[in-house]
Amino acid sequence: MEGTAFLPLPQGLRITEIHQEEMELTVEVLSERTSACCPLCEHSSDAVHSRYQRRLKDVPCGGQADRLHLTVRKFFCRNPECQRKIFTERVPAFVEPWAQMTIRLSQAIQAIGLSTSGSLGARLAARLGIATSWMTILHCIMELPGAMGITVTVLGIDDFSFRRGRKFGTILVGVSRHQVIDLLPERKAESAATWMRSHPEIQYVSRDRGTDYAQAAREGAPQAIQSADRFHLMKNLVEAIEPVVHKVKVMETPDGPKNVPGMWDFPKGGVKPGETAQEAIMREVREETGASRYRIIKQFDEKICFSFDEHYQQETTMFLIEYLGDRSELHPLDEEIDHICFFSAPEVYQYLAHQETKDFFVQKIFQNENH
Ligand SMILES: [Zn+2]
Repeated sequence: MEGTAFLPLPQGLRITEIHQEEMELTVEVLSERTSACCPLCEHSSDAVHSRYQRRLKDVPCGGQADRLHLTVRKFFCRNPECQRKIFTERVPAFVEPWAQMTIRLSQAIQAIGLSTSGSLGARLAARLGIATSWMTILHCIMELPGAMGITVTVLGIDDFSFRRGRKFGTILVGVSRHQVIDLLPERKAESAATWMRSHPEIQYVSRDRGTDYAQAAREGAPQAIQSADRFHLMKNLVEAIEPVVHKVKVMETPDGPKNVPGMWDFPKGGVKPGETAQEAIMREVREETGASRYRIIKQFDEKICFSFDEHYQQETTMFLIEYLGDRSELHPLDEEIDHICFFSAPEVYQYLAHQETKDFFVQKIFQNENH
């Protein structure tokens, strides 16, 4: 490796200048190799035709974004039998021929994308000195080989658009880990079904309300329970992979509000004298989440009946509510509440503590609309 100890470069590349501007380094790099191989016939040539500069993003250096101005050369191919007369020297293992970023940066973005998600990944990358967008993260992930080795029980599937809505692909998300597992270059039932067939461990499929992915799940994962996301929050990729469906809190016990860490439930509480049920739910979510920008979408006719013992039953009226605010504004005012989290629908099912609530959730929210 040449370059410097701070910015290793492949052999034959030399740093000639470094410019620093605010939080960005521009590094002038010169290729000094005396010959290169024609990519077509593989004959070596030392006959330089010209030089040109490639502008590449590279991994950050000390937290600063790093741009390389890499001067490479064009060579004449002297092999009379070769159709290529002029070729550009390549730097394999460092940068792909047409890429605008180095391979090591692409790998860093892939790692961020796989462990976070589109827009969250872009924010994290920015903190690390990598200026990127969720679309670039997607493209980097798409270059990875498939996800054959990954186990997925709860699959989220949705489409996303490249090129401003003119071309669509399919995103496959491991809902439990909030992880993009794979991306397919098209939005077709057949390819999605083929993908699902290679993952017989899938138990739940959370999908949009269209017919393509419903058909894909029926054919590719007939063993799985399908849920159509009623919250319409999976409109596009960014939203699909951010967990924004439900609010859950530490549980109240039948004997009253006790701090029982680790038990998750929806916000709830009792109706005070003079209050309607609607007023009560709005007050409760305000107290339990510290935010008031909620809207009631629906009041369910069916109630949940909790039986605490043979003498005592409690009926709970359920509402579907939408949060219109920013998640950063959520701070519980009730002391009994440890955490407020937004989960996707299949995850909520996994986390809910009470079987009655789980049953209600499956029947009313998480149900398979095809059944
Ligand atoms: Zn050649």
